[in-house]
Parts: sequence; structure tokens; C-alpha cells
Amino acid sequence: MIQKMVESMSQLQEEKGQLQEQLMALQKKLALRESDQQAVSTQLQTQVENLKEKLIGQVQEVNRLRSELGGTDLEKHRDLLMVENERLRQDMKRCEAELQELRARPPPCSECEHSKESAQLREKLAQLQLETEENKSRLAELDLEVHQKTDRLAEVELRLKDSLAEKAEEEERLSRRLRDSQETIATLKAQPQPIKTVEVDSSKTKQALCETEARNQYLQEQVGMQRQVLKEMEQQLQNSQHTTTQLKAQIMMYESELERAHGQMLEEMQTMEEDKNRAIEEAFARAQVEMKAVHENLAGVRTNLLTLQPALRTLTNDYNGLKRQVRDFPLLLQEALKSAKAEIGQAIEEVNNTNRELLRKYRRELQLRKKCHNELVRLKGNIRVIGRVRPITKEDGDGSEAANAVTFDSDDDAVIHLLHKGKSVSFELDKVFPPHATQQDVFQEVQALITSCIDGYNVCIFAYGQTGAGKTYTMEGTVENPGINQRALQLLFSEVQEKSSDWEYTITVSVAEIYNEALRDLLGKEPQEKLEIKLCPDGSGQLYVPGLTEFKVQSVEDINRVFEFGHTNRTTEYTNLNEHSSRSHALLIITVRGTDYSTGLRTTGKLNLVDLAGSERVGKSGAEGSRLREAQYINKSLSALGDVISALRSRQGHVPFRNSKLTYLLQDSLSGDSKTLMLVQVSPVEKNTSETLCSLKFAERVRSVELGPGSRRAELMSWSSQEHLEFEGSLVQTPSSARSYSSSSSGTPISRSSSIRRKLQTSGKMKPVPV
Ligand code: ADP
Ligand code: MG
Repeated sequence: MIQKMVESMSQLQEEKGQLQEQLMALQKKLALRESDQQAVSTQLQTQVENLKEKLIGQVQEVNRLRSELGGTDLEKHRDLLMVENERLRQDMKRCEAELQELRARPPPCSECEHSKESAQLREKLAQLQLETEENKSRLAELDLEVHQKTDRLAEVELRLKDSLAEKAEEEERLSRRLRDSQETIATLKAQPQPIKTVEVDSSKTKQALCETEARNQYLQEQVGMQRQVLKEMEQQLQNSQHTTTQLKAQIMMYESELERAHGQMLEEMQTMEEDKNRAIEEAFARAQVEMKAVHENLAGVRTNLLTLQPALRTLTNDYNGLKRQVRDFPLLLQEALKSAKAEIGQAIEEVNNTNRELLRKYRRELQLRKKCHNELVRLKGNIRVIGRVRPITKEDGDGSEAANAVTFDSDDDAVIHLLHKGKSVSFELDKVFPPHATQQDVFQEVQALITSCIDGYNVCIFAYGQTGAGKTYTMEGTVENPGINQRALQLLFSEVQEKSSDWEYTITVSVAEIYNEALRDLLGKEPQEKLEIKLCPDGSGQLYVPGLTEFKVQSVEDINRVFEFGHTNRTTEYTNLNEHSSRSHALLIITVRGTDYSTGLRTTGKLNLVDLAGSERVGKSGAEGSRLREAQYINKSLSALGDVISALRSRQGHVPFRNSKLTYLLQDSLSGDSKTLMLVQVSPVEKNTSETLCSLKFAERVRSVELGPGSRRAELMSWSSQEHLEFEGSLVQTPSSARSYSSSSSGTPISRSSSIRRKLQTSGKMKPVPV
């Protein structure tokens, strides 16, 4: 048992030794840990302090540290950045000032590259400003983060302090216990041999052992606890180490970011600086180029000025010369005027002489012209016959009776074909107007005749044909489409107007009618009064109609008034005007008197426009009483007209003017160098073919009256039959009877000089003009 006890004692002893060893190892370890902890905590402390030094804080310690160390790296960084910032701001300000200055400068060329460049620079500046703003805000963010980190570090520090304090306490406690245990072990060692005592004081030993065991147990528990605490501490330490590394990494990251931002900023500043410098350099270079150009210009202007100087000098000389000339001018002018006056006087004298000569020549030419004209008229023949076919009208009715019986030759406007009783008969006149010919066309043909009365010729235009063939239409026309009468007067007015600078003309008109061989004045107060045709008492052989009214006309309105007046007189006089007008000859007598201002030459021309009575053979159709009388008178006068024309064309010595009132009245307008035109009006319809045939035969006969005694005789004989309507065969047509007639010396023309004398002396006041 004792052996067992000794064994257990030795075991215990061993165990105690082991425990002591363990305790020692633990103590060592603890010491090591403590020293480690100490080192770590100092490291941490230094790190925290380093961090504190680096951080911007409001903590006092940090302030103190800052004052001690002159600020943390971060602060330095920040300060540096601030300084950089400030510099940048100043740079920016300077740039702005420069910009302002550039803006304030007058734009040399608004559209040039400078302005574009400056705009680009301005944009870049704005971008950089924006970036600077961004960097500033990022800096502020980083500042805030650093503050936060500092706060967290302060917290960790506090916690570390607390845990250190706790650890110190625990250590205190453990060391106290260790001391107690060592004391106990020492007391246990100091006690006598246990085997003996076991027997003696076994209960005591047992108790002490128990106590020791308990104590051991407790110590082991304590050691376990300490181990636990140690573990926790280690864990904490690891944690804080981890946090520290994290913080370090963060700080490193921030630092690197800051550095990068700074680098970027520097780079941008650099590029900005470079841009600015480049822009300035370019602007300077351009300004230099411009300056050079300006200088060159200036040089050019200078050279110009230099070359202008001599020109100016010559100009001044010229000016002075001119001044002298102007001073002398009045004198020169006077002299020039004097000589010019003399020259002009001489020239006027010369012109006057030339004028006198010219006037003399002109008069001679005038006489020659007249002579030539008369010769021409004599050669051409002064009696023309023109046919006019009216269109078919409603009044012609319809059916076979109203069928067209007249055709024309497309190649010859002087030929007309008439289909009569199934046979085609052709006639040749001077000209034939088809139905579609206008009033103007007809007038154009006769207007040369009309104007010749301004030159002092007498003209007769007759409209011949059966009633309804268009005589009145051709002579009077309608209001809308006037005939020869009105157009002739209008033409005379315009011609007279044209000559008004050299000639003075008066135009007078008379309107008369011959009915049953009685002459009536349609413009007179007593239209029913019969007028007589008498010889002038002055012995000139001239005829005149006493009491025949003459109206002076000056305008178309005057003509219309005269026509209206004549018409009214005729209407009031006769109940059936249409019937009456076809049974009487209507005459419009226009007299044109002219005086040449320069020569005093006077002329008188007469234009007789006659709308003859209907040529139809009333007498043959068994008419009686007044109708028969009318017909006989008409036959007589138309036959007389035919006779006269025939006699005139065949140049007979005796012309039977006195056989009718009409020919007697128109005597001086039919003879001599007067001109006569017969307008033969023709109805185109079937029912009028026999009358048409008669009219055309009459026309052709008038035209074909030719020279030569044989034919003349024949004509004379046929005309003297007084049956102007009854020529059925013996017409003498010469093959050469074209539109002109040849004169012959064997013809006995009426004394031309006497007729001209008559013509030029009609007014009595007019002087005879030598022709
Ligand atoms: P006249 O005087 O020969 O008896 P008018 O001149 O009175 O004949 O004509 C008879 C009819 O024929 C009138 O109604 C007239 O308007 C018409 N007439 C005559 N000639 C023409 C023409 N060329 N164009 C149109 N109508 C015409
Ligand atoms: Mg008529």
C-alpha cells in the first residue's frame, strides 16, 4: 500500500513536474505571446499613429501629431493638390484673362482660323474646368473617406486598449495565481517524508492532497481558460491584423488613385499648356504673316503714292492750264461767236439761195409729175370696171331659184363665169370681187383714186347693178361695216392731216339725188325743190348748181351728221324709201380744196360717189304709169352714162353729156384727166341670172370700148340706141383688151388744159396754175 502510495506519489511528483514544466512552457509561451502582443500592439500603435499622421482629422492627437510631423502624407498630398489646384486656378484665371483680352480685341477676321481655334480652346478650357471640378469633388470624397477611416481606426484603437487592459488584468490574476501555486508547491516541498507521515498524518496528507488536487484541478481549469482567452486574443489579433491589412490595402489603393488622378491632372494640365502654347504660337505666327502682308501692302501703297506724285504734278499743271483757258475763254468765245455768226449768216444766205433754187426745181418737178401722171393716166386708161358679187342672203329664199350661178377663176381675179340657162358665159373685167371680199378689200382697190382728188383730180365712182345686187351696201354700207362713202372721207381726213404742214385743205360735201331726171339737194332746206345745172356766168364754161348746199366737214362725226341729215330728208320725202332709192341715183359730192403754203398753189379735186338706180328691165315687164315713167327715166340716164363713158374711152370729139341730168352734172368729173370707176354689182343666185347677164355685158362693154375707128363706130352705134340693157351680141372685144388701154394719136381727147383750168378755178378765187 505504501509502495502503491509511493508510486502514486512519484507519479504525482512526475505529474507535478510535468505540470510545472507545462506551466513553465505556458509561462514562456505567455511571455512570448505577451511580448508578441506587445510587439503587435506597438506595431499597430505605430501603424495607427502613422495613419493618424497621414489622416486629416479633427482629433486632437492627430492635430498634435500633425504639428509635430508637419502633416500626414495624405495631408501633404492634399496640400500639394491644393497648391496644384490653386496654381491651376491661377492658370485658369490667367487663361480667362487672356481670353477676355482676346475677346475684347476687335476681331481681325471673324471667319478666320483664329476664331475657330479660340473657340476650340475655349471648349477645351471648359472641358478642363469640368474635369477639375470633377477632380475636386473626387478629392472631397477621398477626404471624407479618409475621415471615416480615421474614425474607425480610433475605434479600433480604443477597443485594442480595452482588450489590452483586460489582458493586463488577466495576466495579473494569472501571475497572482501562479505565485500562489508556487508558494503552495514550495510549502509542499518543505514538508517531511510523506510515507511516514502518510501513516501518521494520512488524513492530513489526504486532505492536503485533495486540496492540491483540487488546486491542480482549478489550475488546470485556469490554464484551460487562459488558453481559451489566449485563443480569443489570438483571434482578435488576427482580426485586427486583417483589418489593418485591409486598411493598408485601402489606403494604398486610395494613394494610388490619388496619384493616378494627380497624374491625369498633370497630364491634362500639360496638354492644356501645350495646346495653349501651340495656339499662342500659331496665333503669333499668323499675326506675323498678316503683319507682313500689311507691311507689304503699305509698301505698295507707298510706292503707289510715289508714282502718283508725278501724276498729281501733271494734273496740277493741267488744271492750271485749264484755269488759264477758262480765264481766256469768254474772249475766245466772243471771237468764235463772231466768226460763227458770220459763217451762219453766210450759210443761211447759201441755204436761202439753195432753197430758192430747190423751190424752182420743185415747181418744175411738180409740173413734170403732173405731166407724167396725165401721161400715165392716158396710157393706163382712166376708166376702170370692177365687179362685185354679193353673198347669197336669206332674202334670196331657197330652192333652185336661190342656187348659186356664179363661179370664179382661181388663177385670174378678173374673170367671172355665169351659168345662164344651162350655159356658162365668161366675162373679163378689170377685177372681180367674190362674195367673201370685205368692204375693206373693195376700198383698198379704190383708195388710190380717192387720194388723187387731194392732188386736184376729179373722180367718179359709180355703183351699177340691179336692185338688191349690193350697190347701197358697197357705197354706204352699214353702221358696223361702212362702205366707200365713209371710208373715203376718213381717208381724205387722214391724208389732209398728214400734209397739213405744207398744205391747207378744206373738205366740203353735198348730197343730192336724181329722180325722174330731176335734181334735188338732200342737204337743203327744201329737198323737194328741183335744182338746175347752169353754166358759170364768168364765161369759163364751168358748170354749177345754184342753191346746192355744201357742208364743210372736219371729222367723222361731221360726216355722220351730214349722212343722217340727208337720210332724214330722203325718208320724210318718200313713204317707201327702199322702193324710191332703187329708182333714183344718189350722189355724194366731196370737194377737196387745197393751198400750198410755200408756193401759193391752189388745187380743187372732186370726188363723186354715185349709187345708181336699179338697172333691171322694168320697162320690158309691162309696167305702166309712174312705174313705166320711172323706168324710162332710169333707162335714159343709164344709157346716157354708157354713151358718155363710151365716147370718153373712144376719145370722141363729142361726148353727149347733156343727154341726162346725171352725165350733165358729172361732166367735169368725167372728162379730161378725170378718173372713173364703175363698180358692177352682181347677184349670184339663179333667179337673177338674166339681170346679172345684162349687168355683166354692160360692164364688159364699158371696159372693152376700144380705140380704132371701126370698133368705135360700132360702139357708138350700139350706145346711141339708148337701150343700154339690150345688148345681146355685137360686142367688140379686142384680144388685147386687158386692164390698160393704149392711147392713140388718132383719138381726139378733150382739151385737157381747159378741163384743168376749170378744175383749178372752181372757187373763183383760185389762180390758174400753169401745167
Ligand atoms: P341695192 O342697193 O343694189 O339695191 P343693197 O345694197 O340694198 O342692194 O343690198 C341688198 C341686200 O344684200 C342688203 O340686205 C345688203 O345688206 C345685202 N348685201 C349686199 N351686198 C352684200 C355683201 N357684199 N355682203 C353682205 N351683204 C350684202
Ligand atoms: Mg340701193
